[in-house]
Amino acid sequence: MTNCQECNTPIPIEEEIPDIGAILVCPSCGAEHEVIATDPIELELIEEEK
Ligand SMILES: [Zn+2]
Repeated sequence: MTNCQECNTPIPIEEEIPDIGAILVCPSCGAEHEVIATDPIELELIEEEK
């Protein structure tokens, strides 16, 4: 299980092994994370410009 880097909410991963570059969205705060590694899974927070 990986956690949101914004609010630390666990982010559910639908596929057991997501593709590198896949985008996972935090269900709590909506922050987007890019999968940068899969073994183990590592996420990088995508900073959105406003
Ligand atoms: Zn979050």
